[in-house]
Amino acid sequence: MRTKRIVASTKYLIFILLSLGMVSLTAGQNDYAAERNEMVEEQIRNRGIADKDILRAMKTVERHKLVPPEQRRFAYDDRPLPIGHGQTISQPYIVAFMTDVIDPRSDMKVLEVGTGSGYQAAVLAEIVSHVYTIEIIEPLAKKASDNLRELGYDNITVKHADGYFGWKEHAPFDAIIVTAAASYIPPELFAQLRDDGKMIIPVGANFAPQQLVLVTKRKNGKMKTKNLMPVRFVPFTRD
Ligand code: SAH
Repeated sequence: MRTKRIVASTKYLIFILLSLGMVSLTAGQNDYAAERNEMVEEQIRNRGIADKDILRAMKTVERHKLVPPEQRRFAYDDRPLPIGHGQTISQPYIVAFMTDVIDPRSDMKVLEVGTGSGYQAAVLAEIVSHVYTIEIIEPLAKKASDNLRELGYDNITVKHADGYFGWKEHAPFDAIIVTAAASYIPPELFAQLRDDGKMIIPVGANFAPQQLVLVTKRKNGKMKTKNLMPVRFVPFTRD
């Protein structure tokens, strides 16, 4: 009787241990697909982003693989996250909004200033033909470049440099996205925008309220600007 009970409880114990093992195995392999879907539905579509290419891109890019391991479980939260060196990966909604503003199409060549984690570059690369992205902090440029290659993006080129001067060899760009707050619109970036092209850039003093500004280059080369919304970005720095 006693032996039977011991055998039964041992079996029960083994069953529990196996189940726990299975759970931790699947947790270890979590691809965060459910979290990513929920993020897109609740934070992006619900807030008015309807472009199906952008929704698809954001359902595809594995944001958790572009943040430091200790931030992974927060990757799909509705907020920016630290990525080291005092920098942050933008809140998913801000990435979607900035992408939406430039009206991305499959034949476009886009410049990004401020690679950071590489997430904005990856979202763009899901839609446009090529993304050139510049990062001023060398280890971030290297990490983003490695991660993006590992994720299979062959249409993103990362450079370690001061993005203030743009990337002349590849200009003009159909669109430019700046993801660090500058105190004014860098003239060389505007010069590298094609006629009719759009640039989106946070403008404002450090630690003061900034405005997300849409800059359009008219056919006659003149600049038109429009303030879109107040934002808080890390500062645009210079070497
Ligand atoms: N787009 C990024 C957000 C990065 S935060 C992402 O998706 O994760 C802004 C980044 O701009 C920081 O990594 C910062 O180092 C970089 N940066 C600031 N000034 C810069 C400059 N002059 N040239 C290039 N990168 C710059």
